[in-house]
Amino acid sequence: MSEILFNSSLEVRFDTVLHRMQKAEQASGRSPGSTKLIAVSKTQPAEAIRALFALGQSDFGENYLNEALSKQEVLRDLDLVWHFIGPIQSNKTSGIALHFDWVHSVDRLRIAERLSQQRPKDRPDLNICIQVNVSGENSKSGVTFEGLTDLATGLVSLPRLKLRGLMAIPEPGLSIENQHQSFKKLREAMLALPFEGLDTLSMGMSDDLEIAISEGSSMVRIGTSLFGTRLSKA
Ligand SMILES: *Cc1c(COP(=O)(O)O)cnc(C)c1O
Repeated sequence: MSEILFNSSLEVRFDTVLHRMQKAEQASGRSPGSTKLIAVSKTQPAEAIRALFALGQSDFGENYLNEALSKQEVLRDLDLVWHFIGPIQSNKTSGIALHFDWVHSVDRLRIAERLSQQRPKDRPDLNICIQVNVSGENSKSGVTFEGLTDLATGLVSLPRLKLRGLMAIPEPGLSIENQHQSFKKLREAMLALPFEGLDTLSMGMSDDLEIAISEGSSMVRIGTSLFGTRLSKA
């Protein structure tokens, strides 16, 4: 594929996603720009990130640490904001604490403790969203609604982390009504937490961003609609 073709289709997709977000904000009476776009660049080459940055996108989400680090190395000249959104194994926490600005997928205290210990003292606090399992036993990732308050309470006492909000990935195949319900439950769970400064609901992907925005999403994590179909895991 020629670079020009690649970049022009990327530009069209980027405009389309921004337009979908604007329409969804408008439709639910939310102020324009109240939802931030996280471009999910897993399996995509560094050049795709560079091209999207040139179009004005600054926040990128990655799922796999090693893949992310090699892209970050090549893109060091750009002022990017990096979000870690994938499942976290304990042996990956130090790389994440060093090289990311946000982590959306914290679902147990042990991981939060390691991120807190390993976040360099000269960096700003690491922004954290707790991943909640909104789909019951059908999903492996995320803390249960029952376990959320305990995890959040433990997390806010840790230095160098800043709890910003919650993240969820509803199971695929839900009815529209149940997708609304899942996002709504996440929002209500955040409102019920007794802590100051929670301002982030990380919810909505390529197929459900409109529903998520109508339920109060503040960050949508979009891969396929921006970059096209992913090749298998890099
Ligand atoms: C891959 C991924 C996305 C993006 O999904 P698309 O359907 O491609 O938009 C969002 N969030 C997480 C946690 C992901 O792993």
